[in-house]
Amino acid sequence: MNIAIIAHDKKKELMVQFCIAYCGILSKHSICGTGTTSKLVSEATGLEIKRFLSGPQGGDQQIGARIAYNEIDLVLFFRDPLTAMPHEPDVQALLRLCDVHNVPVATNAATAEVLVRGLERGDFAWRDIVNPKD
Ligand code: PGA
Repeated sequence: MNIAIIAHDKKKELMVQFCIAYCGILSKHSICGTGTTSKLVSEATGLEIKRFLSGPQGGDQQIGARIAYNEIDLVLFFRDPLTAMPHEPDVQALLRLCDVHNVPVATNAATAEVLVRGLERGDFAWRDIVNPKD
């Protein structure tokens, strides 16, 4: 599975801790993410992560494009709901594309935990029926 990770600044440490905790599961999949989040997680875990641009520089849109191409199976997006973001339209666009293309997305660590555990159990096999790869 292709997993995208994104964390707003105040959630980056949480994302790092989450990825350390679930490194065993995440290491079985292809991970990509926005620039700074990817760098921090890969330094802390040793996971190989394809780095896109930083979110405010267009990284969210790069991930959104891959969702539109059916190249992303799961999104872990630790949002900061208490801070105004200059790239809020990009955030909304990415979440919208997840709904358009039926991609499971977690916007907080509690939901991410459920999704990653579900991933380990193979719960996402149904996506191949809903979104068959070309
Ligand atoms: P970043 O981007 O990982 O490059 O900080 C995240 C974001 O703010 O969208």
